Order: sequence, then structure tokens, then C-alpha cells
Amino acid sequence: MRILVQKYGGTSVATPERRAQVAAKVMEAISQGYSPVVVVSAIGRAGDPYATDTLMKLVSSIYSEVPKREMDLLLSCGEVISGSVMVSTLQGLGIEAVLLTGGQAGIITNNTYGDARIVRVVPENIINQLQEGKVVVITGFQGITEDGQITTLGRGGSDTTACSIGVALDAEAIDIYTDVEGIMTADPRIVEDAKILDVITYNDICNLAHQGSKVIHPRAVEIAMQKNIPLRVKCTFSDAPGTLVTNVQPDLAEGSDMIGDRIITGIAHTPNVTQIKIDIAKEEDKPKTVTKIFKGMALADISVDFISVQPETVLYTVRDEIGNKAINILKNMGFEPVAAPSCAKIALVGGGIADVPGVMANMAEALAESGIEILQSADSHTTIWVLVKKEHMAPAVQALHRKFHLGV
Ligand code: ADP
Ligand code: MG
Repeated sequence: MRILVQKYGGTSVATPERRAQVAAKVMEAISQGYSPVVVVSAIGRAGDPYATDTLMKLVSSIYSEVPKREMDLLLSCGEVISGSVMVSTLQGLGIEAVLLTGGQAGIITNNTYGDARIVRVVPENIINQLQEGKVVVITGFQGITEDGQITTLGRGGSDTTACSIGVALDAEAIDIYTDVEGIMTADPRIVEDAKILDVITYNDICNLAHQGSKVIHPRAVEIAMQKNIPLRVKCTFSDAPGTLVTNVQPDLAEGSDMIGDRIITGIAHTPNVTQIKIDIAKEEDKPKTVTKIFKGMALADISVDFISVQPETVLYTVRDEIGNKAINILKNMGFEPVAAPSCAKIALVGGGIADVPGVMANMAEALAESGIEILQSADSHTTIWVLVKKEHMAPAVQALHRKFHLGV
């Protein structure tokens, strides 16, 4: 059997016309000799009747405490609805299809409701249905614990479902279908001339995804990478070839656009972060103070980012929504933290950064020319980050995109 996993996001299954386009892609795969496995997300985006956000609001807008187990049961319905509709669409066109929930598809997770991790996949059920010649539609974003509880996998979880199944079935490829024509040099909602990348390495897209490029979930990329299964990001509404994610250096891949020659592969952004600054200049035992700060955050389950510890100052960021909680904890510990809410983190990502002098100089120059202040910066061998005010986020991404000639 030549198995092809296709994952369709919420916008791809939102209307009968779009579902017909999905069905056409499924039929095309069948005509090419594949046995397709179709993973679907919940229908639509926030505000649409059966979208994940809408289901969540149904209870969270009324009740302050929603039991996590029941919330997952509720959220799992979004994909059950969209999967059932998808099977009807396929059957209506004469394609034999069957819907399996995450549990029925053998996706076993741990019991972290709302953000469960897949621990293994038992694909027998999927294989049996494929052998009967059926297209197997699977609800994304969900699984089942060893003791039969339904869990959800967190935001972007359907990508993870698709890649886990692709690995478990040793699929020929995993195609992530969405509303853009591939992985681009920046979010096209911010940069008008963002360019589609023909090829990208698992590492680069993983980095970009971790830094906020929402086009694919980083965990999904890591899973596909384990078995080197070719991953493609494509558009449901066009026949464009999309982006191939592989291990092969892009400048060696056939028909590539030579992005291997590039220093920068792309730019990612994460809005809504709060910068916290604590003056520790007068503290006697600085190592102890630093430990106390980060233990305080850890105990409250606050994840910290962009950490910079210096002899006089401790700097880090948290998500805006937990900014106040973090500040209150620090005040209760006797510190006088200064908070700068509504910041954005921008990441310049590319395998070539480490070896090329002057990248930071160009970055600083581009931002200075646009009158944008850098609030904090950091770098690794593949990424340079800057923190800016949220209102500077889009202009900063645009300025950097221009400076590094990513649109050409
Ligand atoms: P789906 O519902 O299909 O999973 P998502 O909204 O999760 O779709 O992902 C697609 C969106 O990702 C695009 O509409 C685009 O705005 C956004 N995006 C962010 N960064 C990038 C990027 N570098 N390349 C392509 N799309 C990006
Ligand atoms: Mg997505």
C-alpha cells in the first residue's frame, strides 16, 4: 500500500465548496495509486459555529472553572463534526470512506488534558480500513489515554495527529493543506511580498514554528523528522506545488530556489509578551536571588522566555495574559519588578547566521532606519531575536524582510 496522509485545516473544510476541493485532492491521490488517510481539523475559525474557539467559549464565557476532562470531551466534538461532514462529502461523490476518532485510530496519549502528548500510535484499525479500500478520515487534535479518556493535543494539534499517523503507517508523504500556498519567508498577513519557499529543512521550519510561524506546529515537524518522512505544506485551493520539508540541503535539492545560499530563511513573530525587568544590583547573594526569581516562576507554572541574567539586572518575558500574575509573585517575594506589557518577539531564522558577520549590524540598521527601538536581543547559531513594542511588530518584520532581500 502506498499511503499518503493529507491534513486539512479549519478553513479548508469550512464550506461545501471547499470540502468539494478537498474531495478533489483526495480523488487525485487515489488516481495516483495512493491510499489516502485524511486528517481534519474542526470547521472554520473563531466565531464559526463548530470551531474549536467557539466550543471553548460556549462554557468558558459563562463558567470560570471548567473541568479539564469535560472541556476536552467538548472540544473533541469539533473534529467529530467536521470528520462526519467530510465522510458524507466523499461518500456523496462515490468514494467509500469511514471516520475514525483519535481513539479509534489508535492515538494513545498521556493524560495532560488540553495539551496531551502522543505516546504511541496503534494503527491496526486504520490499516484494516485501508485494506478494505476505504479512505480513512481521522479527527485531528485528539487522542485517548491508556484508560480510555478522551484528550486533546493543544493548538495546532491536528498537524501533530497527521505526522504521528504518517510515521506510524510509514507513509510516503504527509501533506499539510492550508489556506496559503506554502511556507513563506514571513507571515503573508504581515508581509505582502513574502515569498513561498520551494524547499526548507526540518530544522529551519522547526525553528520558525517554535518562534511563532503558525503555519505548522513544531511538534509535528519533529515527529515527521524522526523517520525522515517528506512533509509538504500545500494550499487546498490551488495546484501550486507548495513547500517540501526535508533533510536535504535546499541548494542540493532538484528544482530548488537555492535558499541554501541564503543567510536568512525566514522571519517569525510572537506578539503579546510582557517584558519583566528586576534590578538586582543591591542584592548581596546574586546567585541565590536569581535562583529565587526563577523558582518562584516555576512553582507558579509560569513559563519564561528570552531570559537574560546580568550582574545588575534580570530580564525575561512571559505571555501578556500571565504578566500580572508573574509581577504579583515577584512583589510578594520583595522585588520591585518593572513590567513592559504588549511587546513582540521577532526572530530571524537561518542556518547560515552563525558563520556570517554583520547580520546583527544589518538587523540593527534596518530597525533604526524605521525608528524602531530594540528592547532586548539574543542570538543562537541559527536565530537572532529582538524584542520590540507591539506596535512596532509589523513594521519591524517588514523592514527586516526588505533588508535581507527575502522577497526577491
Ligand atoms: P490551518 O487552519 O490550515 O491549520 P493555520 O492558520 O494554522 O491554518 O496556518 C496557516 C496560516 O499561517 C496562514 O494563513 C498564515 O497567515 C500563517 N503563517 C504564519 N507564518 C507563516 C509563514 N512563514 N508561511 C506561511 N504562512 C504563515
Ligand atoms: Mg494550523
